[in-house]
Amino acid sequence: MLYKSTRGGSRSFSSMEVIKQGIASDGGLFIPDEIPSLSMDDFRILVQRDYRERAVKILSLFLDDYSQEDLSRCVYSAYNLEKFDVADITPVKRLNDQLYILELWHGPTCAFKDMALQLLPHLMVTAARRTGEKDDIVILVATSGDTGKAALEGFKDVAGTHVVVFYPKEGVSSMQQLQMITQEGSNVHVVAVEGNFDSAQSGVKAIFADKQLEQRMRQRGYRFSSANSINWGRLVPQIVYYVSAWLELFKDGEVSEGQLIDVVVPTGNFGNILAAYYAKRMGVPIHRLICASNRNKVLTDFINTGIYDRRREFYKTISPSMDILISSNLERLLFELSGGDHQRVKTWMVSLQNEGQYRIDDESLHRLQEIFWGGYADDAQTLEAIRQAYQEYGYVLDPHTAVGKWVYDEYKKQTGDNHKAILASTASPFKFPRDVLKAIVGRGVKDHSDEFGLLDLLSRISKINVPPALSRLREKDIKHTISCSPDQMKDIVVKLFGLDERCRA
Ligand SMILES: *Cc1c(COP(=O)(O)O)cnc(C)c1O
Repeated sequence: MLYKSTRGGSRSFSSMEVIKQGIASDGGLFIPDEIPSLSMDDFRILVQRDYRERAVKILSLFLDDYSQEDLSRCVYSAYNLEKFDVADITPVKRLNDQLYILELWHGPTCAFKDMALQLLPHLMVTAARRTGEKDDIVILVATSGDTGKAALEGFKDVAGTHVVVFYPKEGVSSMQQLQMITQEGSNVHVVAVEGNFDSAQSGVKAIFADKQLEQRMRQRGYRFSSANSINWGRLVPQIVYYVSAWLELFKDGEVSEGQLIDVVVPTGNFGNILAAYYAKRMGVPIHRLICASNRNKVLTDFINTGIYDRRREFYKTISPSMDILISSNLERLLFELSGGDHQRVKTWMVSLQNEGQYRIDDESLHRLQEIFWGGYADDAQTLEAIRQAYQEYGYVLDPHTAVGKWVYDEYKKQTGDNHKAILASTASPFKFPRDVLKAIVGRGVKDHSDEFGLLDLLSRISKINVPPALSRLREKDIKHTISCSPDQMKDIVVKLFGLDERCRA
């Protein structure tokens, strides 16, 4: 299978090249030239298999230049009981007759980003080895909170790689920040950016686009790559859990052969929900994809009107990992909706860059609305969703998942749709103890209580143990204190990799 840029480009690349490069040199994102499909026989076989075997099968369809042995080794190194706290990796919990929660946060950093970022380093190092890569790979990451930590954990001390994470200084939760600034590892750097996620992401994209910087890095034996969800190697592992979730429902007799379900995804950069879209295209019986946003509802508006307009106020919310106005992965969906029309995709992206907005044609909009439904929840509604789920089911939602729950309820109210649904749960509630407790115990939480006291309180109330990875933060030293403005990000990279020193002849 070969990959091309969404914006055209003259060349096609193998999946190993695509994973190594991260982003296409014309600024577009890599997409496969066809989407493989799963037959009913495949489903019958896969239903007997465990998560890892399912993963090897799905990955092999997209990453067909990797050998089966390499893929198995990568998958078994990523998804095991040393890294995940449950054997089934992504458990599906039944909330009521119609709604199931797909828990994606049982990995080492307690958010769904681990699903891809535990695997990506193995895929990348394998690709480097098999393609005879000589340079070290430098992973640049812009994070809205969870990607940073997951990338640091995934790549720490991986030979031949370095990681630089840029996070918005005021834009992440205390727990998220603590997770990042205490990160250990000899090849990791963490930098606070004075700005929001979009400025950090634009800064990283600008570094990728800087040909002169790339030259200088090459001379020193480094090449850049990305661990953001613009990297195809992040997307494929996410397709696996949607396939697997349907298989779990089928196995348990909750759905019959071919029975359609809805999928609800709390969305920011549009990576997770795009993976669900690919799963649907592969033949997983999915009816609707419900795209849930917080108050930064640029995607809700886009799905309803066909106009993507980022020229609006940016809000900080209690679901910070979704505080995003430029959803990068949407570009891949636009490519599919336009029937693979590179030129149109490029025009829309240039318009987004220059004018801050674009409008898609009616036919593409129609296709979009056939599959997607968009809604949003503000902070008060998010807290209300946490409170309700706790009262009705004794289940504790994190704020991101709660946005999804609120939007799902809205969707049912407005459409009367009766399909069973899976709600992707993207983070452990323990990553956001203050807001979760505010929702379920109300005024009982004092503003000044320390973060770890809150974890213990939430543990008592939810009767779930605090994830060890979070309670261990209590004893860790702070290791990363650099901060900069968005326009200094490049200088930081230059310094970190010694490019400012005169070349030794
Ligand atoms: C990253 C993240 C999201 C958004 O996922 P996208 O793939 O960017 O749409 C939602 N919830 C949590 C907890 C996240 O970390």
